[in-house]
Amino acid sequence: MDFIKKLKEFNKQINDLESGIYLGEKRYREIYELNQKLEAEIEKRTKDLETANRQMLTLQHILDMMTASKPLSGVLNAIVNSLQRELDYLHSCIIKTFTEDGQMYIETVAHSDDNFITQLETVLPEPLYNSKTQFTQSSGFEDYLKANTVYHTNNVSECISRFFPEINIQKLEHLFNKVGCHSCILIPLTSDKVHYGSLILLSKRDDTTDAELRFLSLFARQIELAITISSLFQTVKSQAVSDALTGLYNRRYFEECIKKETTRANRQNQKFSIIGLDLDYLKQINDKYGHNYGDIAIKTIADVLKKNARSIDVAARIGGEEFNIILPGIDSEGAMIAAERIRKAIESQDIPVIGRITASLGVATYFEQTDDVDELLELADHAMYQSKHDGRNRVTLAKPTKEISWQEVAFNTFMDILAKHRVPLDSDISDNISRKLETLGINNDGLYTISDTLIKLYNPNYTPGITKSKVLLANSLAKRFDMPKDKIDNLKVAILLYDIGNILLPKQLLQKKDPLTDAEKDRIKSHPVIAAREILEPITGMNTILPIIENHHENWDGSGYPHELSGDEIPIESQMILLIDAYFALQEQRSYRKAMDKEEAINVIKSGSGTKWNPKLVEEFISIIETEEF
Ligand code: GH3
Ligand code: MG
Repeated sequence: MDFIKKLKEFNKQINDLESGIYLGEKRYREIYELNQKLEAEIEKRTKDLETANRQMLTLQHILDMMTASKPLSGVLNAIVNSLQRELDYLHSCIIKTFTEDGQMYIETVAHSDDNFITQLETVLPEPLYNSKTQFTQSSGFEDYLKANTVYHTNNVSECISRFFPEINIQKLEHLFNKVGCHSCILIPLTSDKVHYGSLILLSKRDDTTDAELRFLSLFARQIELAITISSLFQTVKSQAVSDALTGLYNRRYFEECIKKETTRANRQNQKFSIIGLDLDYLKQINDKYGHNYGDIAIKTIADVLKKNARSIDVAARIGGEEFNIILPGIDSEGAMIAAERIRKAIESQDIPVIGRITASLGVATYFEQTDDVDELLELADHAMYQSKHDGRNRVTLAKPTKEISWQEVAFNTFMDILAKHRVPLDSDISDNISRKLETLGINNDGLYTISDTLIKLYNPNYTPGITKSKVLLANSLAKRFDMPKDKIDNLKVAILLYDIGNILLPKQLLQKKDPLTDAEKDRIKSHPVIAAREILEPITGMNTILPIIENHHENWDGSGYPHELSGDEIPIESQMILLIDAYFALQEQRSYRKAMDKEEAINVIKSGSGTKWNPKLVEEFISIIETEEF
């Protein structure tokens, strides 16, 4: 019995032990599982943190670039370059997709600079990065470009051929095999809830993983952010009314105000005056004490203007060292008193280091010297200029212009060309333009619009609005050379007309992609003579303008045409036109080359100084475009 009892007890002990072990094991397992869960959690959190950190860094990077006020293209180029380099893609680019008149276009807004792209361009039918390419809608592929779906394929040559249907697929495949291009990824981009375009990547890897796509989509969000922030910046910038350095109103606001003031003056038949003011010898101040002191001189003027202006006056900084003040309801007499008070106040400032500064002022009054607002501004400017001529530090009242204005000369010339069919336009087009001209009337904007319309007839890449920039630039340049008003006026008329000879040349010739034959070159080179002799010579008032136009392709070193003139033999106005025309033409696309940006155009001009262009002219020109907005 004893034995059985002991056995039972023993058995119980074993059972207890077993269940103890079981319990312990269970607890151990629970702890183990908990531990594993924790580890997974930690791993996930670490990954999340890493991702968040990466996002933060990218974001930081983008924001740094934005606040360094780089243009959007700079930011996007930096993004695609870092993506291509750091993640080892063959190529990375961002395209914008948009529709115009029912046609779909793609435009490359940024691309990485890599070897691959140089090789790819050798097999493409046209430069890959044209500013705007029409996309042939046929294959349903456009849906991917328009939709918000990620797309990837290992058939890269097929994908590329959707963009370039005429491409030689064999050559392309050969290249892809050589460099090992195995996949293509398209990530959609949206900005402000509207489809923007795609981020495109060409990769050596053929296994595009979900993780990679997720990461790229994350990256795309940063790109979208950059695009959205930039467009916000643009909006805010374009809405700004004050000038950063001085706190005065800026040119944009000034222009708005003068329009309103003119409307008000017309309605109430009330005068208003403009004071134009320019700081004297700023260049010397900059050269002697440095740019910062130049800025101090500018700020001093701004402070004087603020103190002297009534609350309804609008004092604006319209250029580097140029100011304009609108004085509502004030006639010439009152404006002269105000201008004199300002002149005295400037003269009496004692600025540390610089000492005394002075300014030259001009006054013009609406309804007194003119009832054309464009002319009013010009008159105030010329009066200011007269003050400079007469020794600076003085005020001059504008003289009324009785003689015919440059706008009238240009207007009459356009009317004559159209009415007498001096250029072979369809009568519909020519009637249409004449009507437009009559409705717009004799003012700068009307003339610029007509000039833009005519240029567009022979140059499809022309950007409307450039004529105005050309005239303003010519005006600034001419003033640097102390050119008298009548000559500046001739230059302005010539700017509107110098290329009109092109209308008589065949379009195919002007837009030919292949190299021109000698005969074709000669034909194109005839356009200055056609303009001067065939179109403009019979028109009255053109005598002084003809030589400017006929010689606008003569180069400084004598290598130009039609007369191979050189140096000072070439009228200075023609030299100016050659330079201004080149600056804007370089920034337009041509069938044989891409459009350049401002910096590239400036470099071309610098490299042609002394050969193609007058070096003195180039120097002043560059100083203008670097300080003013052109
Ligand atoms: P003038 O009496 O004939 O007006 O001589 P100036 O030297 O003042 O005029 P000029 O037109 O020959 O040169 C103007 C100079 O002003 C050239 C340009 O570099 C400089 N400038 C333009 N904007 C600024 C600016 O915002 N700050 C500074 N410091 N200089 C500027
Ligand atoms: Mg000055």
